[in-house]
Amino acid sequence: MNEQVPYINIHTHQFHDNEGIAIVSTGPENAGSAKGFISAGIHPRHIASYNIAEAMEQLRSAAALKHVLAIGECGLDKLSETPMEVQEEIFIEQTGIAGLVNKPLIIHCVKAFEVLLRIKKTEHVTVPFIIHGYNNKEQIASQLQQKGMYLSFGKALLAEGSNAQRVLKNTAPGMFFLETDDAAVSIKSIFEKAAELKSMSLDELRGQMMLNFKKVFKYE
Ligand SMILES: [Zn+2]
Repeated sequence: MNEQVPYINIHTHQFHDNEGIAIVSTGPENAGSAKGFISAGIHPRHIASYNIAEAMEQLRSAAALKHVLAIGECGLDKLSETPMEVQEEIFIEQTGIAGLVNKPLIIHCVKAFEVLLRIKKTEHVTVPFIIHGYNNKEQIASQLQQKGMYLSFGKALLAEGSNAQRVLKNTAPGMFFLETDDAAVSIKSIFEKAAELKSMSLDELRGQMMLNFKKVFKYE
């Protein structure tokens, strides 16, 4: 038997009981002390609870740490209590930090894909965009993919007939990731469903996700 490639969960909020490789998403204040791989960022729904100047300083130093593989989750959310102009400013600042350390962005985007596309263009962001928890229309997915953005799929894949299922079927193997986010599901169950939808074996899918992980997160 050859060694099995581990499951890769690029976005969870859970520090414990992760199977395989997991990137735990946390705020900048916890980034230094966290164990294992993490992503650090200011979530658009949590902006109001931060002293932003202080959090940005923390994020700036956290971003360079070796175990911080990505910046995020950060992004834009029309349902957040924080006004969009403020969200945009804070998101743009985080894309700048990601650019400085040349690490990908794990993005939370709710009803603001046009703004996201605009920012990528006007700010000339060149680090990878990973839209996490994707479960939106196929048309939006293709717009994002045309701009080279990666999509990450989670528990919505388990719902028959979901947007996530349809979009994954048409997504190139090199352009997606899998995640559990804050759902009480195993990464294994997400991989199994994704393998079925992509007509790949579980081993093939694991190999593919490892390739994507190495490429985008510069994992060695
Ligand atoms: Zn999340």
